[in-house]
Amino acid sequence: MRTALIHSPAYSRYDYGPSHPLRMERLGLAFALMEAYGLTRLPGTRVIAPDPAEESAIRGFHTAEYLDVLRAASRGAEVPAAYRYGLGPGDNPIWPGCYEASALACGGSILAAELVARGEVGRAFAFGGGLHHAMPDRASGFCYLNDAVLAIQTLRRHGLRVLYVDIDAHHGDGVQAAFYQTDDVLTLSTHERGDRLFPGTGFVEEIGEGRGRGYAVNLSLNPYTDDAVYLDAFDQVLPAVAQAFEPDVVVAQLGIDSHRTDPLTHLALTVDGFAAAVRRILDRAPRLVALGGGGYDLANVARAWTAAWALMNEVTVPEHLPPGFLTTGARHLAGRTTLWDDPSPLPIETVRAAREFAERQVLGLRRLVFPILGAS
Ligand SMILES: [Zn+2]
Repeated sequence: MRTALIHSPAYSRYDYGPSHPLRMERLGLAFALMEAYGLTRLPGTRVIAPDPAEESAIRGFHTAEYLDVLRAASRGAEVPAAYRYGLGPGDNPIWPGCYEASALACGGSILAAELVARGEVGRAFAFGGGLHHAMPDRASGFCYLNDAVLAIQTLRRHGLRVLYVDIDAHHGDGVQAAFYQTDDVLTLSTHERGDRLFPGTGFVEEIGEGRGRGYAVNLSLNPYTDDAVYLDAFDQVLPAVAQAFEPDVVVAQLGIDSHRTDPLTHLALTVDGFAAAVRRILDRAPRLVALGGGGYDLANVARAWTAAWALMNEVTVPEHLPPGFLTTGARHLAGRTTLWDDPSPLPIETVRAAREFAERQVLGLRRLVFPILGAS
């Protein structure tokens, strides 16, 4: 299996600002751990730095008006109605280069899609992407440009049927919206329930419209959903949906803000559970374009995406983090020394509530979506 890792050292030039939870340094930290494990020098693997996406490609999803505003804001111009485009103090601050950094992430995800579509590699991982909340005409949820949509559009231009699987703790609303009315792309998102977490959508009843009816699949989860509950529910949905849809390629958004130590969400996965989900996605992916996503505990980002990249290359790595990385990552590791987690179990009542909720969601999907897809 030939693979490609898409990474740009230029990401480190950009910064959302000191008080923002999305730290660009997480990308360098993840790459440093992959490097320390020797995962950037595997036979059959290429590490490629992307160019920023052309505006013509970005216009495939975003409006010209929004791009004009974002570019002006990015270079420091006064943009009086910025808030109308989701920009300003808060989730989507204006910072120097916010357009360029976003265009670079788009370039990375489009490149991953091109390499896979042309058959140059079977799996590509653009972990700087996965910015799944951006909407055609506005920024949302730390996302200015939706690289995931652009990657899927690239694959569609090659005539490929795309299954999008989003395991970020937040609903993949921007990607769902982009393909809500088509049956060429099936979006499956697992996430903390929308009445508890941003962006407030992703309910089981959101199943697509028109020709796309049945091609949006949402599995909401209760706070404190752990590995066992998550994987049981995932196993009842992903294989059935994939088997019915028969994708040519899977685009996976691999946000790791589902982790129990993530400061922004309330799911309770571990790196082990995350990796088990990635393994299941790999099992269902004839070809794979993997993207990054959320993740606000930086040690988790580095460990989870390194584990995912090892799986994509079918190699196992030692459990103990390489000594060099313990120094590089010391500030973020908070004493953690292994790739995997060994957390104490959650209270039994908490697990039971999460399991009951997940089971109700799966039943809802079986009733609302499976019949349309012919899934069982
Ligand atoms: Zn997220």
